[in-house]
Formats: sequence, C-alpha cells, structure tokens
Amino acid sequence: MGTKTAAILLTACLLLSACTANKPESAAAGNNQTPAASETSNGNQTDPKDHNSAGKTTTQHDKSVVDNSKSGDSATVAATDKTYHLDKAYNVVPNQDGVEKKVILLTFDDGPKEAAMINKIIDTLDKHKAKAIFFVNGYRVKEHPELLKLIHDRGQPIGNHSWDHIVLKNKSEAEVKKQIETVQQIVKDITGSAPVFFRPPHGAGGDVGRKIAKENGLLYMTWSVGSLDWTMKKSQPNKTDALLKNVTEQLHPGSNILMHELPWTAEALDSLLTRLEQKGYQFVDPQSIEIPAS
Ligand SMILES: [Zn+2]
Repeated sequence: MGTKTAAILLTACLLLSACTANKPESAAAGNNQTPAASETSNGNQTDPKDHNSAGKTTTQHDKSVVDNSKSGDSATVAATDKTYHLDKAYNVVPNQDGVEKKVILLTFDDGPKEAAMINKIIDTLDKHKAKAIFFVNGYRVKEHPELLKLIHDRGQPIGNHSWDHIVLKNKSEAEVKKQIETVQQIVKDITGSAPVFFRPPHGAGGDVGRKIAKENGLLYMTWSVGSLDWTMKKSQPNKTDALLKNVTEQLHPGSNILMHELPWTAEALDSLLTRLEQKGYQFVDPQSIEIPAS
C-alpha cells in the first residue's frame, strides 16, 4: 500500500513539475493567490505536494522512547496505522475504500505564544476529542521552551514552521537547511522527538524547502482551507461568525484547515468544531497521515 501510494504521489509530482517551473507554489486548482503573500492574503492556498523519507534522528535515545510511549511519535507508529495521506492540494484522503472520507485536519501556526491561549485551544480540542498540528517557529520555542513542552505534554503533535518565519523559496539551500533543521533539533531536545510535519511560512517553501523537508523525513504541506484569522483585527466585531463563515464556505472532505494561535481563534474554536461536527465531519488524528518514504 505504501509503495503504491508513493508511486501515485511520485507521478503527481512529475506531472506537476512542468507547472512548478513557472509557478513554484501555486499549481493546484482553486487557487488565486501569490505564494509569498498567501499566508497574509487569501485563505485558499495550495501547491504541489511533496513526499519524503522517514528520516530518523539518532540522539537522545532513551528520552525519545519514553516520550514516544506517552504521546506517540509518528516515526514509531506502524505503517498499518496510517490510514490517510495528503493529496497534491494538501487535502487528507483515505488510503483505501471504507475509510471515512469526511474528515478534517486542524492546524495552528505561528506559536508557541502564550500558555493561556494554548490551554484554551487544547481544552477545546480535548472537549471535541480532536488533535491538531501546532506548527511552531524556532525563535518562539527558544524564548518559551516551556510552552512547547506544554503542547507536547497535552498530547498535541508539533510541526516545524521554520526558525524565523521567513519566505524560504528564494533562499540558499544552506539557509533553508538551517531554518528547518534547527527547529527539528530544538523540538527534539525539548520533547524527545523531532517533528514529522513541515509547513513553510507564507506557504512558500519552494523546491529547496521541499528538498530539505524530505531529507529530514518531514511531510511538506501548506493548507487547503484558510480560516483567514490572520486578516482579522482585534477591533473587528463578530470575529467568531467571520471565522465560521470563512471556513464553512471553503469546507470539503479532507479539508486541511489553517488557523493561528490568536485570541479570537481560541475564542471561536468551540463554535467552529461544533459546526463542523454538525455538518458530519470528523477530526483526523495527524498521526494517522502517512509520511511517505521517498
Ligand atoms: Zn506562519
């Protein structure tokens, strides 16, 4: 199954490579935004998917084993537990018939910022029995390692969102490598396991971002539904209604929903998850998503 999926994805990548030569970050359908601005303008952003190898880090064996048993490092989960994969538009798709299609992947970018906000988000996730990927920036982790530990200890998976939150696609390979690998290391140092998910800042990783992600065993993704929470201002009224509208208008089976660690998103989350459940959606456990071998 893994081999077949990898072959399909490889074919998709090859088919898309012609497009990506001209439009590095925006080849997939339904997308009308410029790559560098994608995380700050339009919510619906896609680009050709990459797949990667199951990279392993080799330090801190004992700590890694302990933490894996607690919160489940994806690298330790058997391949048979991987019931979903990401398609080229970064939607979550079942690997075989009979698996629930009407699922949603929840993600929160740009943290970790504040314990109160993180706890509020995770309280709501727990209430709905949901998991989300927290895509963190290294510079924030360095400032507040205890907040990364909080996310990890509360059982939510951590993703790599680069060290500095800069556009990577036009940077040198050495710089991109540093941006990605320093985050792998600091997260591993604090939690015992390195991330397996990578989301480039601004949705703009470029070929070099995909390459380095792959070399580090990271599944590269942008998103398929933007909550547009990052466009909202503190003074804007009815942000919960706006966020629900933004998401539900784009909603489809497999939606990979981009949100941020923002106070109004934390506030809206219970209403949003309730609405999604009412529409018959389930929340996918990120650990059930295949990290394809190259
Ligand atoms: Zn971001």
